Amino acid sequence: MARVKPGIQWYIDINKLRVAEDLDKHPELVKALGGYYKTFVKWAGNQRFTYEENIQEEYKEFIDFIENKKLYNIDYKSWKKISEEVFKRDNYTCSYCGQVGGFLEIDHIIPIFKNGTNDLNNLTTACRKCNRQKKDKTAEEFNKWKRNKNKESKIIKNG
Ligand SMILES: [Zn+2]
Repeated sequence: MARVKPGIQWYIDINKLRVAEDLDKHPELVKALGGYYKTFVKWAGNQRFTYEENIQEEYKEFIDFIENKKLYNIDYKSWKKISEEVFKRDNYTCSYCGQVGGFLEIDHIIPIFKNGTNDLNNLTTACRKCNRQKKDKTAEEFNKWKRNKNKESKIIKNG
């Protein structure tokens, strides 16, 4: 990431105002951000170097940033040990689509972003595809989202 040069602080301040303005148009993002609102405005303001940023994309990047930052508060060795335990417990099966083996990842049932923890009971096995789609959704929200998506594709096929 580019180091902030002296003299561009004004530019960052303007960017922060623009982020806040963009958020005004997206109450759903404000709601999702909750207590992270100010952190997001600061983060996105610092990142913006063009005027054509997409606030929804920024929000997604921000979630990744927070999730990774919090995740890496655990040292790699401990995380690896926890991961192996979870994979084994779940029989190396994605708990969302049932895929066995392949690229498996650890999913936070309640995302860290929504104050989920790294406790074993908040961790489950997910294939890469499911994990990418789930993102900041809770397990419950994700299952609902998947059901709706299936309905939509059936309508398209049959319609
Ligand atoms: Zn899956």
